[in-house]
Amino acid sequence: MACRAPVNRIIPFSLVDGPGARCSVFLQGCNIACTYCHNPETQRLCVGCGVCVESCPAGALSRADGSVIWDRTACVACDTCIEVCEHRASPRIAWQTPEEIFGIVRGYAPFIRGITVSGGECMLYPGFLRELFSLCKAVGLGTLIDSNGTIDFAAHEDLLAVSDGIMLDVKAWDPDVFSKLTGGDVAPVKRNLAFLAERGRIEELRVVVIDGWTDPEDTLAGMAGLLGERTGAQRLRLTKFRRFGVRGPLADAPSPTDERMAALVRLAERLGFADIVLS
Ligand code: SF4
Ligand code: SF4
Repeated sequence: MACRAPVNRIIPFSLVDGPGARCSVFLQGCNIACTYCHNPETQRLCVGCGVCVESCPAGALSRADGSVIWDRTACVACDTCIEVCEHRASPRIAWQTPEEIFGIVRGYAPFIRGITVSGGECMLYPGFLRELFSLCKAVGLGTLIDSNGTIDFAAHEDLLAVSDGIMLDVKAWDPDVFSKLTGGDVAPVKRNLAFLAERGRIEELRVVVIDGWTDPEDTLAGMAGLLGERTGAQRLRLTKFRRFGVRGPLADAPSPTDERMAALVRLAERLGFADIVLS
């Protein structure tokens, strides 16, 4: 059976998903559930309840064999289906093969440096990634993974062989803080951080600042303690929380101030980070 992954959307030209202009591919489904997720409708796969079918004002959704069928040509992108779904899913996905995605990406090849695959959590589909990246590499396109770090990279050497690097989210360091924020376990994130840094495969470490939720001081200190002398070699991106797209208890949470972010940059510098990006 052909290797397929659920594709939520493709952004042809992105300037925020790695170096240069890149085609960003978002896969559906995640193994954790971050409270501050900007795309909560990407977290789960559709369970076929059918609620959104009745709500669609354009008749773009229908049911067949227990599944929901999305008619892309009829959809008016009103997002009603996203708003009514209680399962953090979307009916607007397509299960596609690496060859099909590469066929789309190749059309943008003269204008992009590479592709970045994100999610959801794209590491849920390592075989798909390996095949897609192999196709991209063959035509000289770069390949980056944007991951929450909870899936063991050491078990996927074949994928790393065709990946330029990993943009690794470190959402929190303390196990209780991480669990409260994501519902998951931080231990594999720490293992991946050590493994990928030792291999020189980290494109960027990403820390989102949400006061009262992410404890960035603890996260920065924890990362620097684990990385040791490798700390200065890792690019660190400190990102202000922004509530766009967020649902639940953080839907109205404030963004940190510029002064707060500047203080965290100074802390990161004291801890040994030398390549720090604010966003
Ligand atoms: S997308 Fe959500 S509301 Fe629509 S059928 Fe799937 S689970 Fe139900
Ligand atoms: S966004 Fe969803 S509800 Fe709106 S037209 Fe498209 S499929 Fe229908």
